[in-house]
Amino acid sequence: MIDLHCHILANIDDGSQSDEMSVAMARKAVSEGITQIVATPHHQNGRYVNEKDLIVKKVKDLNELLVREDVPLTVLPGQENRIYGEILEDYQNSKILTLNDTGKYIFIELPSSQVPYYTERLLFDIQSKGIVPIIVHPERNSRLIEEPELLYNLISKGALAQVTASSVTGRFGKKIKKFSHQLIDANLVHFVSSDAHNLDGRSFHMQEALERIEKENGREMIYAFLENAEYVIKGQMCFKESPERVKRKKILGIF
Ligand code: FE
Repeated sequence: MIDLHCHILANIDDGSQSDEMSVAMARKAVSEGITQIVATPHHQNGRYVNEKDLIVKKVKDLNELLVREDVPLTVLPGQENRIYGEILEDYQNSKILTLNDTGKYIFIELPSSQVPYYTERLLFDIQSKGIVPIIVHPERNSRLIEEPELLYNLISKGALAQVTASSVTGRFGKKIKKFSHQLIDANLVHFVSSDAHNLDGRSFHMQEALERIEKENGREMIYAFLENAEYVIKGQMCFKESPERVKRKKILGIF
């Protein structure tokens, strides 16, 4: 299994804090059936700046360490980019990394409580360069929880989305758990990834998430998610069903 989203590189963001911790996280990932993992440190989120060259170097070092420690896991380069206006300029200037450096898929993180007015335009511009934007954990964005139509619009216009395993299992609360399954049901999600930061509060939980998705959304969904992660690291086209609007329960017939 491939995990597309993980903060496994040491001393670079709020993920792993040491080489020992990175190795321990790698062993945990292997125990969950993960064979390849994309290291996606935060970039331009207001706290951390991690440009391409540094990430590529840290990935190489970690892979060498994992070979020495006999951990059968391959780490691939990636980046979790907070949305910002100059992202395409920075891509041209080799500061931005696509997932596994294939030039095909880029992670885009929205601020936690808003969807900036320029989001649709920027995601369009990214696609016009032949890159598919993947919106990370939309289920944790409070604006999208209130207005899922905004996500429907972005997905209808070609973006993809990744749900976080711990959201699906309920570690971020009932509301986010329910919203995660609603988004999956409406074909607004294309991947499930760990977004693991450590081995305590924010670990992998991929197996548990897959079991929950199978139960709530059906087995086909799991196959689609697992295959899509492979397509991403190979830079191939992902599987995508037509997006639908999130169904909201009618409250007293008002809506
Ligand atoms: Fe993350």
